[in-house]
Amino acid sequence: MLKYQTPTGMHDLFQKDLEQVAKIEQLAKKMADFYGFEKIETPILEFSEIFEKGTGGSTDIVEKEMYSLKTKGGDLLTLRPEITPGVVRAYSQAGMQNLPKPVRLWYLGPCFRHERPQAGRYRQFNQLGFESLGTPHPIIDTITILIFYNLLKSLGFKKLIVEVSCIGDGQCRGAFKKALTNYFRSKVSSLCADCRNRLKRNPLRVLDCKEEKCCVVKKNAPQVLDYLCKDCSDHFKSLLEFLEELEIPYSINPYLVRGLDYYTRTVFEIIEDTEEGKVQGSLAGGGRYDGLVKLLGGKDTPACGGAMGVERVINLIKAKNKQAEKEKQTCEVYLTQVGELAKKKALKLFEQLRQANIKAGEGLHKESLSAQLGAADAMKAKYSLIIGQKEALSNQVIIREMKNGRQKVVDIDKVIKELKNKI
Ligand code: AMP
Repeated sequence: MLKYQTPTGMHDLFQKDLEQVAKIEQLAKKMADFYGFEKIETPILEFSEIFEKGTGGSTDIVEKEMYSLKTKGGDLLTLRPEITPGVVRAYSQAGMQNLPKPVRLWYLGPCFRHERPQAGRYRQFNQLGFESLGTPHPIIDTITILIFYNLLKSLGFKKLIVEVSCIGDGQCRGAFKKALTNYFRSKVSSLCADCRNRLKRNPLRVLDCKEEKCCVVKKNAPQVLDYLCKDCSDHFKSLLEFLEELEIPYSINPYLVRGLDYYTRTVFEIIEDTEEGKVQGSLAGGGRYDGLVKLLGGKDTPACGGAMGVERVINLIKAKNKQAEKEKQTCEVYLTQVGELAKKKALKLFEQLRQANIKAGEGLHKESLSAQLGAADAMKAKYSLIIGQKEALSNQVIIREMKNGRQKVVDIDKVIKELKNKI
């Protein structure tokens, strides 16, 4: 093993990967231009406090996953685990609250989380995000979801699920948290150690837990939608109506809270409804954060946004391309041979197949018959043509039907005609 490798959970990006990132960025720019978003780049390092306060002290991100450091000058900085708090800071710092509302900003850049690396989960990854600041209207939430939905659609994702929920606001969250705390307290012995801790700090975080025993308890937990005040309920209803109008297929997930503390009202996640999609996890997620600008020292400003994980998207595109490549390889017949004389006859027959316009594959460079039949299987050939030593001497060919192994021996000069009748 090489002594120096990338740190755990971090990866080199090569030309092919970078081309994918550039393609995603190009599409995002087109989308941004249409919806009136301007690009922003914030520093990769920010004061730790904006994440501790903003992202939230009770979240896994802040509690366990931040790369923090003390500079020589004594500043406490953190490699950003997400970009929203930096954008919010920049909004106030640049005086953007004086611009016409909503202020729409988009970005693409690296984030860092010290998570346990697994499929779709890295320690350095890129987020592409869209944030709209200054308007409480649910149309903004709708457009945020629409942008990610459209982006993923134009990247070739066909089976998307948009999960949405409303997690209330300062008016109604308290009653829900209380009900949740009471419920989880009554089941505390069935919760994992982490959740027992979470329960003391923020019961919403228990809803985030992926531990099996906590998932069982979660199933009967009080649902936030039953606790919404009228304003939140109306906001959610409007969002759903707008999504319906746009024919965006959504599903309400009352237990969706997301791993960040600042959300109010709308939360959403977009997942690809395939096996690989579920392994990778959500492709994009976000929501409304009406309190964050003020929390970070700015003017009280309602806002909504979301971010997409670029690597997860690329992983799924790669898996799809691989599958398409596999399907592209499909040939109708696959030509196999054993022995020198058979090779010569097969070479000639392969040329005749080309002239007859029959999509054919060959293993002329291979010696073992089973390897050649394996290749025929991999290429999903309907028939394989076998010329063994015996057939080569008698100028014959075995036609083997791949799906059932049925075989027929025909004269070599009749093979093309026979195949044309079959295909
Ligand atoms: P979040 O900031 O947690 O709301 O995540 C937004 C999106 O970023 C997710 O939907 C993922 O696509 C992506 N993401 C989050 N964490 C990671 C990670 N550790 N590795 C790769 N992608 C991630």
